[in-house]
Amino acid sequence: MATDYDEVRSDVKESQDRSLEALQSANAPDARSVARELDETDSLDDSIVPGGEFVAEELIVQVIPQAEDEFVCYSCFLVRHRSQIAREKNGHAYCVDCEG
Ligand SMILES: [Zn+2]
Repeated sequence: MATDYDEVRSDVKESQDRSLEALQSANAPDARSVARELDETDSLDDSIVPGGEFVAEELIVQVIPQAEDEFVCYSCFLVRHRSQIAREKNGHAYCVDCEG
């Protein structure tokens, strides 16, 4: 029994040494894939939290076709009716909300 116990211990130590070597080497594929998986998990969590909704709203606004009597405010980037232009400068229009 004592012999079996020693064999198990040496196996465990050997695998621990190999893992350590892989982590210490920047070129080790194991270390890189682990780091990539962690990054992907982090960014996935970030997009689920509030920010995801905001990005979706922005995309919808940009897809709306701009009619002739509409303009895109250069400050808030919302499509508005031309009657809401408060100021035009250098070819950019600003809405009444942004100009107060
Ligand atoms: Zn605006």
